[in-house]
Amino acid sequence: MNRFFTLLFCILLLHGTCTHAAVKNFDNNNPPDLMRDFELLRKRIKLNPRDVAALNSLGIIYARASKLNDAIKLWQYALNVDPAYIHLYNNLGSAFKQMGRREEARIVFKTGLTHSSSYWIHYNLGLLEKEEGNVAAAVSCFKSCVAQNPGFEPAIKQLSELGYHSELSAKNHHTKFLSLGSYKPPVETGNIDFYPLLPESMQQQNSSTAPSSKRQPSKNHSVTVKKKQEKPFKPLSLSECDEIVKAFNAPQKDRYLAITFDDGPHHTYTREILDILKSEGAKATFFVVGSRAETYPDLITRMNNEGHDVGNHSWEHRSLAKSTTSDALTSLRRTNELISGITAKPCILVRPPFGHTSARVKNMLHQESWHEIMWDSDSRDWQNKNPDVILYRVMKSVGPGSIVLFHDIHPGAAMMLPTMLRAFKANGYRFITISDLIALTNAS
Ligand SMILES: [Zn+2]
Repeated sequence: MNRFFTLLFCILLLHGTCTHAAVKNFDNNNPPDLMRDFELLRKRIKLNPRDVAALNSLGIIYARASKLNDAIKLWQYALNVDPAYIHLYNNLGSAFKQMGRREEARIVFKTGLTHSSSYWIHYNLGLLEKEEGNVAAAVSCFKSCVAQNPGFEPAIKQLSELGYHSELSAKNHHTKFLSLGSYKPPVETGNIDFYPLLPESMQQQNSSTAPSSKRQPSKNHSVTVKKKQEKPFKPLSLSECDEIVKAFNAPQKDRYLAITFDDGPHHTYTREILDILKSEGAKATFFVVGSRAETYPDLITRMNNEGHDVGNHSWEHRSLAKSTTSDALTSLRRTNELISGITAKPCILVRPPFGHTSARVKNMLHQESWHEIMWDSDSRDWQNKNPDVILYRVMKSVGPGSIVLFHDIHPGAAMMLPTMLRAFKANGYRFITISDLIALTNAS
């Protein structure tokens, strides 16, 4: 069996040039980046045919190019290499489902769930059951999904459609009626372009203050259950941003900001952001997801070489507060080892995914001598992708010494960043890394 797949796989690699054209024609948004990834992944796999993360990612590119059969063969081969790599079950099952091969999809999803209780697999299996009219089974899947990730809006929405309203609109999670900004078809889930995550602040509980954060997370960021209309706003011009910054009237020594980007690296947006930071002479901190960093080691190298901090956002965007200490540590250590292996520096900064923290998490991080880094200005760039809205939100919540939260897996930040950076730069502000911020705080 193994030999069969290896052979098959070699054939797929040899046929790369044919697939090329298909890939090129497929993604109209970012063909050059897809192509770059395609080549990068093929090189990685040639060096190490057992590189499961690369195999998974290459499969996603095939799937996006509508080459589902090729994607399926690749993922099946990868599962032979590492039967515990959970993304593969979700992707493979979703591909079968998309092709109408429902029974195979069901088996793959269920096998995946015996390895790990992935909320994405519960969700996709729920969709399959629902499509087949198995309402009770669907409800059970969506409930398992929400039990795993209480803020997971697509499942909450499904449950609500199936008549389960009150009990699952968890009291602490106000996500029920929000629009589903970043959701993409399940077959694209995995670790190349879309990581199954929910926005940090949506689920933020009990957020701690950052090391030098002078401002508390603002109260008005809590999302109410009833869908509130966005307040009408007027896009801010550069000169209006400049006026806002002037009005802070901060002493020169306090004129700095730490901007942070979570959830990447992303093949397109992270590169764009790095280019902007470079041309504006700004430093930042990237809290990367380990499984994505493994796919884009070149981007981690670039962040490090260009003077940015690389922090830990767990291996699989795991809620630390909802994991056992042992699972949380495994996820964080695996990510740390990967980052340090690339940057040749210790990685001591951790941003808990979803902002989920607790006394236990804090204690665990403290024991490891890691810093827990939260934020005080939230761009909410996952929620509204309009760069004008993002700029407005940041300018209305930021202040001298702020830690600003962005996500480099969405397009908005890169679009508004130049205006924001220029407004602050014009007023003598520096953009510093979290390490610099800690050093400053310790010094004062
Ligand atoms: Zn995150």
